[in-house]
Amino acid sequence: MDKLSDRVKRLGYSQTFVMSNKAREMKAAGIDVISLTLGEPDFDVPDNIKQAAFDAINQNYSHYSPVPGFAELREAVAFKLKRDNNLDYKPTQICVSNGAKQAILNVLASVVNDGDEVLLPVPYWVSYDEMVKMMGGTSVMLPTSYVTDFKITAEQLEESITDKTKVILFSSPCNPSGGYYTYDELKSMAKVIAKYPHVTVISDEIYEYINYETKTTSIAQFPEVYEQTAVINGMSKAFAMTGWRIGYSACPEWLAKACEKIQGQMTSGANTMAQRASITALKTNPSEYKYMIDAFQKRRDLVYDLMKEIPGFKVLLPKAAFYFFPDISYYIGKTLNGMEIKDSDDFALFLLEKAHVGCVGGVSFGSPECIRFSYAASEEDLREAMKRIKDALSPFNS
Ligand code: PMP
Ligand code: GLU
Repeated sequence: MDKLSDRVKRLGYSQTFVMSNKAREMKAAGIDVISLTLGEPDFDVPDNIKQAAFDAINQNYSHYSPVPGFAELREAVAFKLKRDNNLDYKPTQICVSNGAKQAILNVLASVVNDGDEVLLPVPYWVSYDEMVKMMGGTSVMLPTSYVTDFKITAEQLEESITDKTKVILFSSPCNPSGGYYTYDELKSMAKVIAKYPHVTVISDEIYEYINYETKTTSIAQFPEVYEQTAVINGMSKAFAMTGWRIGYSACPEWLAKACEKIQGQMTSGANTMAQRASITALKTNPSEYKYMIDAFQKRRDLVYDLMKEIPGFKVLLPKAAFYFFPDISYYIGKTLNGMEIKDSDDFALFLLEKAHVGCVGGVSFGSPECIRFSYAASEEDLREAMKRIKDALSPFNS
């Protein structure tokens, strides 16, 4: 009998970590690799947040917290949701988790039964489809393209909802496309979703602050879907706290209770020092941390100018988050330096091996014709990476 469960056999590894590990191994072997793989801010955690964590250690916050998080942190989350998103949540509607990743998993585990369908607009974040599989659900991909800014329409959504649809799950701002749904687009989507009360929306807003245009809208702001929506957010991107592992969900009470039940059996409350520090992070005026957004914007502009010059890359200017997701279908079906490029994962391997630039192929984002570059890296590395890619591809474009 096979020792492994069917569940784990269904799963793939997280491609973001696979590619970053490959880049790390090459670096360890002495190869000068520029890794634009993992999406994580390259800034240090701001000093006031660090200080709050030191204080928490000194004040002996070393015991279990309540499963859904310290009351003060849930109050701070509610305060943030009101201040930034004009959303009304009570602390009892909030569940603090080990990163937004667990917050999403808690919600999926709470609502998805075997065989239920989860709608995923393409491209989706790598873990969504795998999490759906973990919960026994089936993902239904809603196609989009480079031409439509990688966004679905309300009509497309309506055509895709069936009796089996349990969830629609999307990130706005989007990892990997860097686009986001406007107020009007979300309003039309909310109108559709409200007609199907058996559908839960998981709105992943973790890139909310990393946004170079107008403030983004949360779909939960539309009263007709508030009771159907789980808002997901966290500390990783906004405060450069990826390793501190704090995220949260804000849901209707019945769903928040279900998340607490799941988490209570799985991991208990999140790390207490990181929770205390998160209170400080959320209560600080976001303008204090804007220097990170300004730096990302400068890098985005730099990469856009350089990437546009790479033959065969179709590039959109990302409006938010810190990724480029160019369409590289020009190279698919070609043989580059003896490597057959069947899809963008092969192309990402080619770039890693020949240009020594790490990125993530689009296959696990649902877009085998695109690749993802994180530009949360120094300007010097970004400049050099674009040069290396252009040089590595030049023999195939002359
Ligand atoms: N959602 C999206 C869209 C992401 O890119 C990530 C990656 N950090 C997460 C959720 C999970 O974030 P974390 O678990 O670090 O809070
Ligand atoms: N979310 C980041 C990314 O997309 C970190 C890796 C992960 O959590 O999968 O690269």
